[in-house]
Amino acid sequence: MARTNMQTTRIKPQRSELLVLHVLRRQRLSSGFMRVTLGGGDISRFVPLGGDQWFRLFLPVGGEEDALNRLPAKLDVFAFARYLAISKAVRPVLRNYSVRAFRPDGVDGPELEVDFVLHGSAAAGTSGPAASWAQTCAVGDAVAIVDEGISFTPAPGIAHVRLVADETGVPAAANILSTLAAGTRGTAVLEVPHADDIQPLSSPDGVDVHWVVREDPHAVPGIAAGTRARLLPTPGERFYGWVAGESALAIAMRRHWIATGVAKEDILFCGYWKAQRR
Ligand SMILES: Cc1cc2nc3c(=O)[nH]c(=O)nc-3n(C[C@H](O)[C@H](O)[C@H](O)COP(=O)(O)OP(=O)(O)OC[C@H]3O[C@@H](n4cnc5c(N)ncnc54)[C@H](O)[C@@H]3O)c2cc1C
Repeated sequence: MARTNMQTTRIKPQRSELLVLHVLRRQRLSSGFMRVTLGGGDISRFVPLGGDQWFRLFLPVGGEEDALNRLPAKLDVFAFARYLAISKAVRPVLRNYSVRAFRPDGVDGPELEVDFVLHGSAAAGTSGPAASWAQTCAVGDAVAIVDEGISFTPAPGIAHVRLVADETGVPAAANILSTLAAGTRGTAVLEVPHADDIQPLSSPDGVDVHWVVREDPHAVPGIAAGTRARLLPTPGERFYGWVAGESALAIAMRRHWIATGVAKEDILFCGYWKAQRR
């Protein structure tokens, strides 16, 4: 089964071009998250859309910032083939990340905040290039992004939401919650690996946020959030279900919502990553 229906619900950005940005700040938020604030460069061309806006992130991890100059200016199918043709030694790493927040009036101009989950161990080589980059990047370092728009697209008139996420979906859920209309009702179930990963979120008064701290450090992320979310009573009105995180969580929540009568078009499910099963 597909791990997302994003392509059917996505609102694409008006412009989809490569923007070069620089690291303005890096802040260790908690045991599990690093916040990197980007700005400068092409930031004035970034259009914030709220919701679960996400983007392709290119990181020059080979130590060569010039590597970003080799990237095509737009990322269509042909450009992606050209990207793959870049020699592996200098090809920027490509990963997907969410807009945690956008501020048009930051200290140094417009700012785009990105929260990276610190999974695995950089020392043991199990954390992946993006999570490692987030721990080592310095002020001024360049990255490139391509805006991919939003997938959280409730039909007009739906005023009830249910959000479910593991830690990789927390930044997008936080952006959704902060940009929901004032009278929205609903529940968010957000799973994090450590108690200190719980963060204050702004959301409408009618939306309850339930944090679930994973008890077993070896458990696949998302199982605890999914279990908690499935125990919630089904709302007595039409609602929009949004689930993002480890692939099995996304598939299980979609299956549950469909089984309880939610229409497919009222669901956005996306596997943000896939755990290695042993
Ligand atoms: C639309 C979208 C938005 C996303 N937004 C965010 C975001 O805002 N913040 C965020 O942190 N992530 C986000 N993700 C998830 C992120 O893209 C993946 O976690 C990505 O694999 C991280 O890249 P990496 O280079 O660190 O690790 P990779 O090189 O991709 O993976 C290395 C190993 O680590 C494992 N792994 C990857 N991610 C995790 C994880 N979170 N926990 C445990 N093991 C993991 C992989 O299974 C693999 O075995 C998003 C994904 C999508 C599709």
